[in-house]
Amino acid sequence: MKSTIIVANWKMHHGPGQTRRYLEAFVPLMKDLPVDRQVIICPPSISLAAALEATGGTPIKVGAQNVHQQESGAYTGEISAAMLAEAGVEYAIVGHSERRQLFGETDSLVNQKALALQNCGVLPIVCVGETLEQRQSGEAQATVRQQVEAAVAGLDLQRLCIAYEPVWAIGTGQTATPEDAQEIHSVVRDVLRSFGDATAVPVLYGGSVKPDSVDELMAQPDINGALVGGASLLVESFQRICCYQ
Ligand code: PEP
Repeated sequence: MKSTIIVANWKMHHGPGQTRRYLEAFVPLMKDLPVDRQVIICPPSISLAAALEATGGTPIKVGAQNVHQQESGAYTGEISAAMLAEAGVEYAIVGHSERRQLFGETDSLVNQKALALQNCGVLPIVCVGETLEQRQSGEAQATVRQQVEAAVAGLDLQRLCIAYEPVWAIGTGQTATPEDAQEIHSVVRDVLRSFGDATAVPVLYGGSVKPDSVDELMAQPDINGALVGGASLLVESFQRICCYQ
């Protein structure tokens, strides 16, 4: 994997038509992407096929925003890891705080989803992060430590990515300071080391990353990339984030 990974999480934005239009404009701009960067676009599942088609033959990869933990069965509305793999999707976000908060996803479920993805050759991007309340009561490190321990159990560390996304920074415009982010990233690294050789696991930062905050965040020693929500919806701002110097 490249040394810096920039992931776009479009959430519930951009249907197939908009996905095509976005990527028609975005893909040519990636000719200026520094060689150490990997860009991954995670559209809503209905737009995965359009994204795969528009990025085919380019270095840009496509990821899903979620997956079901079972292989197949009576799970109306759900998509399995095998289906993602068959379609050519190489990555999937699991455990995003919106899934945890709005859809009741637990650490154990996040772990099952990540295992299901690895079993099918899809690389999980596992999200962790503390709430404002947990940060204010001094529990940020312990919360993230516990989430990473639960999520990583049984996983192959050679095929894994972690995203630290403080819940209070997501969609709020309130980015963690580079120092605060670095502090938690080093905790994540520490936990990963207790599971084996974790040097290959990229640890991304997410939470209101913008073109003017990306440089400082990426300069931190334990930050290996960014997971970008709002600022990835517009071609120009996401291009500036991907091509930061
Ligand atoms: C996200 O949804 O993962 C995210 C980081 O969103 P935003 O960049 O808008 O805070």
